[in-house]
Amino acid sequence: MDFDVPPETLAFANEVDGILRTPQTARLLRNVQAREDGMDGDVRELYRYLGDAGILAPSWPVEYGGRGLDFTATVALLEQLVAHRIPQNLYCISVQNVGSLILAAGSEQQRGTLLPAMASADLTACILFTEPGHGSDLAGMTTTAVRDGTGWVINGRKTYNLKSAYADLALCAVRTDPQSSQYEGITLFLVPLSAPGVVIRPIPSLADEQFHDIWFTDVRVDDDALFGSAGSGWSLITQMFAAERTGLDYYARGRHWLNVAGDRLTEDGRRPADLVRVDLARHRTRLEASKLLSCQVMQNLQQGTPDIAESSFAKWHCSETAQRIAWWALNALGPDMLERGPDTGDRVLEAAFREAPGMTISGGASEVMLDIVSSARVFDNGLTGD
Ligand SMILES: Cc1cc2nc3c(=O)[nH]c(=O)nc-3n(C[C@H](O)[C@H](O)[C@H](O)COP(=O)(O)OP(=O)(O)OC[C@H]3O[C@@H](n4cnc5c(N)ncnc54)[C@H](O)[C@@H]3O)c2cc1C
Repeated sequence: MDFDVPPETLAFANEVDGILRTPQTARLLRNVQAREDGMDGDVRELYRYLGDAGILAPSWPVEYGGRGLDFTATVALLEQLVAHRIPQNLYCISVQNVGSLILAAGSEQQRGTLLPAMASADLTACILFTEPGHGSDLAGMTTTAVRDGTGWVINGRKTYNLKSAYADLALCAVRTDPQSSQYEGITLFLVPLSAPGVVIRPIPSLADEQFHDIWFTDVRVDDDALFGSAGSGWSLITQMFAAERTGLDYYARGRHWLNVAGDRLTEDGRRPADLVRVDLARHRTRLEASKLLSCQVMQNLQQGTPDIAESSFAKWHCSETAQRIAWWALNALGPDMLERGPDTGDRVLEAAFREAPGMTISGGASEVMLDIVSSARVFDNGLTGD
């Protein structure tokens, strides 16, 4: 493994840090507040400011709105966004997951029109894969798209979605051929969420960000909404999972939570008890492993050699580590941290405590990640290479 950080990445990280410290960022971040109807805050205006500054897609080619930097710039960006408390879910889903799939597998027309708009945050996208009863068992999905003249008609229901209320487009997996095998009859569409027949309803969540149910009733889309060819959906989904499961966002959050907890435990020059210091060291070491696993996955993606088992390995490790840190922080600091004010680090840790359970489920449940790892040959490359 060779993860030397190039000087361009260090310069980029400094640039990002400078932008995130501007009064404009602070003002826009203050506007991102939970709404009275329980919906999470709208982060799009803040993203557009960051998109105008050209920092949201550092590893994409310049012609698609990126900076042409290597994957280490994306790692630096995520670390900075989290450290500056910028909500990152919509960014990760839209740019890192959907955008990266379009970059890797979209048509030239889709790349040319959608990617620059995503990099500037003028266009945001979400993912509609999960259905009631079909999460880990995704290939059992029942939402359909049926050929109708020059387009398609979609009917069905998706659930446990994040961010559809603030997304323009949804990468949506549907069944187009009920006759062929479970895996062969699946197709991806990029569906405009403003299309007639789309209904989005919030589902309350323990975490700050709400889930949504999405209903499709006779939703008509044109052929240009097709992503890939009809029936190619399963291999594209697998390709996206390899890119979605880098573990990077979990690593970045775990790192920030441990930093916040460490600061609180040592404030006013206090020296934590030895057992607490041992725990801090344990978590720090696990985070370092998370970062290496994540970087390995991202380097392989950059080199065009994605590996679903390697990604599952990283996703499992990074999400389990972040979850442990969130739960440990509550014990280490005591339950009264839940009652501290909104501007203290405790607010971050309280939100982390509520977000933690979902981390080992979103993007693929931990048991399923281990199942994929156990059936792959990832353990064959020992130090001796045999
Ligand atoms: C925070 C969060 C955000 C999400 N965002 C999105 C989104 O934006 N878009 C979207 O489409 N979906 C999203 N999801 C849904 C997510 O992808 C599913 O919840 C996940 O795939 C698990 O599916 P399920 O909920 O149907 O649980 P199930 O698949 O029913 O799993 C229930 C339990 O059974 C275990 N299990 C299932 N199969 C096996 C197996 N073969 N072997 C061993 N154990 C097994 C699982 O590990 C889990 O513990 C999100 C979920 C969360 C928590």
